[in-house]
Amino acid sequence: MKLKFINENIKNEMISARRDMHMYPETAFTEYRTTYKIYEKLTKLGYNVTYGKDFLDDKNRWHPDKEYDEMCIKRAKKEGVPEEFLSKIKGGFTGLAAEMSLEKEGKTKVLRFDIDALKIKESSKDTHIPAIEGFKSKHEGLMHACGHDGHTAAGIGVAEAIAQNKEKFTGKIRLLFQPAEEGTMGAKCLLKWIDDADFCIGGHIGICAQNLGEIDVISDFFATSKIDVEFTGRASHAGIAPEKGINALWAAAVLTASAYDIRRPDFGITGINVGTLEGGTARNIVADHAFLQAETRGQNTLLNDYMKDEFIKLAKRCESAYGAKADIRIAGEGVSESTSEELIPIAQKAAEDMGLGDKFLNGKSFGASEDFSILAQHIQEKGGRSLYMAFGGNLKGEHHTPDFDFDEKTILIFAETLCRIAENL
Ligand SMILES: [Zn+2]
Ligand SMILES: [Zn+2]
Repeated sequence: MKLKFINENIKNEMISARRDMHMYPETAFTEYRTTYKIYEKLTKLGYNVTYGKDFLDDKNRWHPDKEYDEMCIKRAKKEGVPEEFLSKIKGGFTGLAAEMSLEKEGKTKVLRFDIDALKIKESSKDTHIPAIEGFKSKHEGLMHACGHDGHTAAGIGVAEAIAQNKEKFTGKIRLLFQPAEEGTMGAKCLLKWIDDADFCIGGHIGICAQNLGEIDVISDFFATSKIDVEFTGRASHAGIAPEKGINALWAAAVLTASAYDIRRPDFGITGINVGTLEGGTARNIVADHAFLQAETRGQNTLLNDYMKDEFIKLAKRCESAYGAKADIRIAGEGVSESTSEELIPIAQKAAEDMGLGDKFLNGKSFGASEDFSILAQHIQEKGGRSLYMAFGGNLKGEHHTPDFDFDEKTILIFAETLCRIAENL
């Protein structure tokens, strides 16, 4: 493999950044330490960095639970994030934009990297490399189980490579370190950063690309909706006066079970899942509240909309059948757009120049969702172009599982590919 931009120093820097991020995973809109670490590196490299309320659009932003948020802020402070910096990003204003204007005129290129982790307890098995090599998560119950630690490291490597090779680039490079990809909540808060851009490019480790060196252009994502439903009923003594109660948990349980019975259209792939269900206060009390988190998916936006509408109709039917008031909220959404065809040859040329032409795959359907699709749709509507790729990572363990891990060489390929594409645009 031919690396032109990623030298030995940058490589080492990226691996250590990845391992550092892996040890300190932070979930959606609480990426406080992560944001600070990126900020430190990129300001040193001479980037113009924007963060806090100037970075994230607060409109429609999902807010983390206050108690959890405060715990995360305290933890970040203990881990060395200066109070002054924290005061500017507290309340979930995480992530940042870093810009560099080059001397030679040219287009504005946005490169996007997602930085959040998941609520998963990491494996301690003696086959799990982060456990063996001592960089396993130090945050109990949290883990980078989707590879966003690698994406963040790739972003740092790209930043460094561009700063060292300014003469090879033109126009403006804008790096977006996006919070809260999981749950498809972050991208919609970043639209202003692509309003004036010509290109928006992103990628993911693994997913449909399997072997190291494979670069797969993703032609379409699955559209998705994340839906929260909160049922409010009325508590009563379950033994003395059950008839006076309104059982919110019953309504939520029926909705959960019935969701899987939604009649599926026969013109494409759809999916539904209720991932959490909680409610009630005690065994002998009719539950006055219940809360569930569901998601729908569809091969395209039309199919997802069908699933979403059917689920919402079902929730309303449970409301009227059981008398518990249903508060239905859309927590996040992703559409199905992704890659502009004009950019595929540019990605292919990058792969060929790296000696990976035979591993270049084109046009697979993602089979999953990514909120990059929101950025892709937005830039395409404005006349710009978008490109999204998957990088084969020899994965150990599936995404979103405790054993997830990837070959760290994937980060080098990810970063080198983005640099070469940015050079040629
Ligand atoms: Zn994920
Ligand atoms: Zn991911």
